[in-house]
Amino acid sequence: MDLQPACQLPTVAAQRSYDPASVLPDSNKFLNHLVKFRDNNNREYVRVQLTAAGNEALRALSHTPIQREVWSWPCYEFTIRVTNNEPCVKVAQIKTAHPSYVNALLTASRGIQMPNPCEHSTNSLPFGGNVRLPGTFNGACANCQWRDNASQCTLGNRHERQYISLNAGEIPEPSRVETLVD
Ligand SMILES: [Zn+2]
Repeated sequence: MDLQPACQLPTVAAQRSYDPASVLPDSNKFLNHLVKFRDNNNREYVRVQLTAAGNEALRALSHTPIQREVWSWPCYEFTIRVTNNEPCVKVAQIKTAHPSYVNALLTASRGIQMPNPCEHSTNSLPFGGNVRLPGTFNGACANCQWRDNASQCTLGNRHERQYISLNAGEIPEPSRVETLVD
């Protein structure tokens, strides 16, 4: 088995961690939108953080041991696509509690940015930044998990060592899933 040490994983830029409990603590919004920008292909994105309510909701939707573990890892800002002035991740999708959406959001908010995109990342998929969690959820990118196709991700690697983040977070108050708004 070919194990890659986590210290050799390529990253494109230092990712900024933050405490979601401090993000819009009195809001029912799922995401805090920070700044819109366009990439080299003129695709529009918005850089976001999970809000306090959003992060609590994500914990409530995390049922498996690995989902709970990943949830406890530090959060990083991530980017989502904007089409027709609308961000492509909707609370209505999150409220379906579909495991592929939960894994995708856990990966997007806790994962590591890769320098190159997955071959399956297209205009219609919501996450920028080529983010994944090596050794977790097949190492698949957030976009392949969103479309429930983690096994097909071209960034995935079943045999790599699991990236495990330190500095586990606090356990928040119970779910606010039902009260979320866009
Ligand atoms: Zn992928």
